[in-house]
Amino acid sequence: MAASYREQWDDLRRRYRLAIVGFLLFPLIPVVGWALQGRPGGSRILLAFALGSMLLTVIASFRAGFFRCPRCREWFFLDGPYRNSFTRKCLRCGLPKWADQG
Ligand SMILES: [Zn+2]
Repeated sequence: MAASYREQWDDLRRRYRLAIVGFLLFPLIPVVGWALQGRPGGSRILLAFALGSMLLTVIASFRAGFFRCPRCREWFFLDGPYRNSFTRKCLRCGLPKWADQG
């Protein structure tokens, strides 16, 4: 019986979602700036919010990009210097993305 890869794909989905959440926070930066306008310490809070959303996006994107293939345990989106974040299969072993088994 082949092992199920569901847990590993769920982990990739979580990584994608976290990157999307971080990215969706960007449009809120001016809104937060407007809401904090004139308040003591507002610029520091705004800076922390902006940097936090950027860091969240960058870190989550890197984590998604360095996802290990559930079958071969190599980088799913990397093959040496070649990188393809939109590939539909593992660049090392060819496992289709989201395949339950194989
Ligand atoms: Zn693989």
